[in-house]
Amino acid sequence: KWAQFPYHKRLSQFDIQAQQSLSQRQLKQLGELTWIDDQFNLILLGPPGVGKTALSVGLGIEAIEQGYRVMFVTMGQLMTYLKTEEFTRKSQIQLNRIRQADLVIVDDLMYMAMETYEANLFFQLISQLYEHSSLIISSNKAPDHWGELIGDPGITTAILDRILHRVEVINLNGDSYRMKNNQKIFSAE
Ligand code: ADP
Repeated sequence: KWAQFPYHKRLSQFDIQAQQSLSQRQLKQLGELTWIDDQFNLILLGPPGVGKTALSVGLGIEAIEQGYRVMFVTMGQLMTYLKTEEFTRKSQIQLNRIRQADLVIVDDLMYMAMETYEANLFFQLISQLYEHSSLIISSNKAPDHWGELIGDPGITTAILDRILHRVEVINLNGDSYRMKNNQKIFSAE
């Protein structure tokens, strides 16, 4: 249901050999999607081309097949929808889907600096999604640098509080994942 992936590549086609920072076992656990029921967010970090989008698409396809409502948007599309919601039917439809989704995939977060009003719109959406849906956010910048692009420190803190409340950060550029809040998606190795 919905989604709008940039390409279709199943999780089973994700080449785990090419991605040393994720084990087969972790990939399998992510694919079981219990983290969506627990409203965990995933942050996929790494430089371009390491497979952030491929992993989020694979997980998104899996989620749709298991009956979850999924939306895939780039950060650029999302900001366009938010800024034109008042007067563009397409943006209203897309944002309604995003607000109803169990899983929202935001690809390429923070590729551009935000104006304060844009940061506010983004914050409002994150607040609406908080507590009833999961996010997958891919970015080439770690969350401690997002403030440089969001701008307003108060809005940055408010956004980060919600996104990082229940999160699994997965580094796809070498280092393995780390945990937040002593809660885990991955069981002990
Ligand atoms: P990014 O990290 O920039 O989001 P992509 O996920 O779009 O990178 O990866 C770039 C291309 O390489 C895509 O066509 C993607 O399907 C492929 N790719 C990257 N990593 C993997 C992987 N581990 N297994 C299979 N395909 C991959």
